[in-house]
Amino acid sequence: MRASQRGDSVSRYALVVFPVPADKPYCYRVPSGLVDKVRRGSRVIAPFGGRYLEGYVIEELEKPNFPEEELKEIYDCLDEEPFFSDEMLELTRWMADRYISSWGEALRCADPYGVRAMVRRIVSINREAGVDRGTVESLRERAPRQAAILEMVLSKGRASVAALRRELGGSGFYSALSALERKRLVTISHAVRKSGPKKVSYVTLAVSPEEAEGYLEELERRAPKAARALEMLIEEGSIPLSELLNRCDASRSSISALERRGIVRLERVEEVREPDERWEEEYPSEVELTDEQRAAFEAIAGAIRAGRHEVFLIHGVTGSGKTEVYMRAVEEVLKRGKGAIVLVPEISLTPQTVARFASRFGDRIAILHSRLSPGERFDQWRMIKEGRARIVVGPRSAVFAPVEDLGLIVVDEEHETSYKQIDPPPRYHARDVAIKRGEIAGCPVVLGTATPSLESYYMAQIGRYKLLKLTRRIHDIELPPVEIVDMREELTVKRNRSIFSYRLRRRISEALKAGHQVMLFLNRRGYSTYVFCRECGYVERCENCSVSLTYHRDRDVMICHHCGLEKPPPRWCPRCKSPYIRHFGIGTQQVEREVKRLFPKARVARMDTDAVATKGAHSRILNAFRRGEIDVLVGTQMIAKGLDFPNVTLVGVVNADLALNLPDFRAGERAFNLLTQVAGRSGRSRKGGRVVVQTYAPEHYAILSAKDH
Ligand code: ADP
Ligand code: ZN
Ligand code: ZN
Repeated sequence: MRASQRGDSVSRYALVVFPVPADKPYCYRVPSGLVDKVRRGSRVIAPFGGRYLEGYVIEELEKPNFPEEELKEIYDCLDEEPFFSDEMLELTRWMADRYISSWGEALRCADPYGVRAMVRRIVSINREAGVDRGTVESLRERAPRQAAILEMVLSKGRASVAALRRELGGSGFYSALSALERKRLVTISHAVRKSGPKKVSYVTLAVSPEEAEGYLEELERRAPKAARALEMLIEEGSIPLSELLNRCDASRSSISALERRGIVRLERVEEVREPDERWEEEYPSEVELTDEQRAAFEAIAGAIRAGRHEVFLIHGVTGSGKTEVYMRAVEEVLKRGKGAIVLVPEISLTPQTVARFASRFGDRIAILHSRLSPGERFDQWRMIKEGRARIVVGPRSAVFAPVEDLGLIVVDEEHETSYKQIDPPPRYHARDVAIKRGEIAGCPVVLGTATPSLESYYMAQIGRYKLLKLTRRIHDIELPPVEIVDMREELTVKRNRSIFSYRLRRRISEALKAGHQVMLFLNRRGYSTYVFCRECGYVERCENCSVSLTYHRDRDVMICHHCGLEKPPPRWCPRCKSPYIRHFGIGTQQVEREVKRLFPKARVARMDTDAVATKGAHSRILNAFRRGEIDVLVGTQMIAKGLDFPNVTLVGVVNADLALNLPDFRAGERAFNLLTQVAGRSGRSRKGGRVVVQTYAPEHYAILSAKDH
């Protein structure tokens, strides 16, 4: 891919793969005008199945492997220099094999445009040719299609190929267009589609939840899907339209019907969250490493200096200073003139980590948010490719950043599920891709977490990864004691039906009296609700798959989301015969309301997807919390990770079982992760701290393990 290769050999044929499911290369002729440009690794536009598609050149050929007369020609080349390096071609080939996708799909994944539709071809009138209405008329008879295209471009000034084709129809369109181009009447250029701030439609309940309940029965008969949507809105208040349609499989028109009746409201909300930019934090530029940090750093630095591929797993308790170790390692890499990639689970969930890197490394850093517009993304990508930014921080797709002379990859919070791409294919895991990339580039890869994934921990145990332990918090602050509250007893023995146990209530009041801050955590992920017994903790599970069954109120059935098993919800607990068997349906809003009712003087704020839907809300809430303007912060997984607030001395987990009963075979592992992470938000200064975990399954191994950190 080096420039020096250019012109060495003139290739006239190329093998191209496309981002389609078929894993097959196609041979094309390279027209003379493109012979200089089309190289292994170039992105090209070529006719494919009656359309023009973006494809990727994987090989240059001297001779075609197909009958010459049947070959089609490459239409255009998007890059002056090959876009994909040999390293990236090798990596994506490996991904295609490992994740069972086509090579083209894997390459698309590594392309900053992400989807081909973002490259638009724009047709404009060639000014020098003096085109006017007369030109159009002169074509009318002989070439009516050309005349139609020219007429439209003339009237609009310029138009995209896609729009022209939509208006003027398919057959013969492209040949007419290229004829116009050959005659130099029009010019065709490529444009990266720039989009403004992304707006997202939210559906919000327009009436009180109680009033909305009143509509449910009627809807369930007439429009069960709309009823399901309404039910979710009653529980969650406000949900992005596309997500809502997806989750309840409803049509747009059924939501419009609810809107016409004044039950819900549709709003356009700007979806830009850039908490890192406004994050208020003084971060020390130089600190003395602790002995454990130093040992970890030296091990990694050894591999960096030797340019050796090796995988390290930093298993460091919450607050042990992992980020400082990453930053020292990155400095070491920069000193050697190399580059680094730092993967974080999700920019909006890790504002502090991003802010720390940004304040330490300034403009040598490129931050790849998932919410950058295509144009901005392209600019960042170019900065990296040209070597102006040597450090890249971003979510899973940043593993493909075109950093040359890669010296290190860091995967922070390596256990996080957001590293796994679900759709579209390839369904890759960014941690594993990072390790493969490190292997190809010959550089170390550092995985860091307080709660290693089972896979990584096993690899460390058998010696494939090197385990580095940080067992103590900075300044030797103790990990907070975790108190488990058995919620079954709250009901049966103490006759307490509130969402707060007596103990949690007492702890909150103690913390507030001392002038400390409190975080209350409720993991309401999605709408999955499970049926359980409040007296004995029994949970309805699938007899085939052992995952918990999900209750669907619209049809009053429980469904296994793995195998599809359905059964009616029981009236009495099959184990203890209690009638207190029902589905769990409380949300963060109810927790917030309850705190306000019990502690009217406390300043309470909530952090979940609704609360941060407006621009800047995320960092506004966190900054206010940091400044001490909020006493109690109620939130979902958004507050569970990475945050470092010294004045928080109490973390309350309202219901630990929500994680435990996710319909997922990793539910136990994930519950442990989540509890450990959220517990780690407490007691991060010398003020000390504690954690109260409420559960109906106090004997579960994941909860007991989290109790012992
Ligand atoms: P982790 O990511 O392991 O949970 P952090 O990286 O958030 O931990 O570090 C916890 C706190 O300790 C941060 O406020 C950080 O600035 C501070 N810190 C880290 N290393 C040191 C050190 N060697 N000396 C003093 N403070 C440190
Ligand atoms: Zn029971
Ligand atoms: Zn099942």
